[in-house]
Amino acid sequence: MSTVTTWQTVSTSSAATEKLAEKLGKRLKGHEVIELISDLGGGKTTFVRGLARGLGSTDKVASPSFTLSKVYKSGELELHHFDFYRLEDAGIMKHEVMELLDDPNCIVVVEWADAVKKVLPTERLVIHIKAIDNNSRELLVEYPEALAYLVEEL
Ligand code: ADP
Ligand code: MG
Repeated sequence: MSTVTTWQTVSTSSAATEKLAEKLGKRLKGHEVIELISDLGGGKTTFVRGLARGLGSTDKVASPSFTLSKVYKSGELELHHFDFYRLEDAGIMKHEVMELLDDPNCIVVVEWADAVKKVLPTERLVIHIKAIDNNSRELLVEYPEALAYLVEEL
């Protein structure tokens, strides 16, 4: 197993979180997996909004809570955004996730990943967001060496 490194920062506004995610989104090449962990309202979807913009998508990013997934496209790349909040069994969605994980042009981003945790690769970015107060969030990013290009000097 590869070593996991952590990087930490504090964001003091949702705009700052989006900006940070946008920088990261610009570095996406395809085939990356990002897991977002926080309480409700932590800022996971806000982060995805920045990711999609950085990737170059102009689509409006909203929470996929009821549809379970959304896709944002830019050129050849597709960012697939899943939210499995309160879903114990992902059922057929697990297979969809597995297929996307095999696709070199797909980026898979998951909120509330428990239901699909077993199929996610260990080589993924795990972003923990913790609310400090109304507008401040602590972001802790865990990344394997292979994904260091996404995080270094952000
Ligand atoms: P989640 O997807 O984790 O449930 P959302 O991104 O939908 O969270 O909501 C986060 C909420 O917190 C938004 O209303 C956003 O404006 C607010 N917020 C305040 N400060 C921040 C911050 N620093 N980073 C991200 N979101 C923030
Ligand atoms: Mg959300």
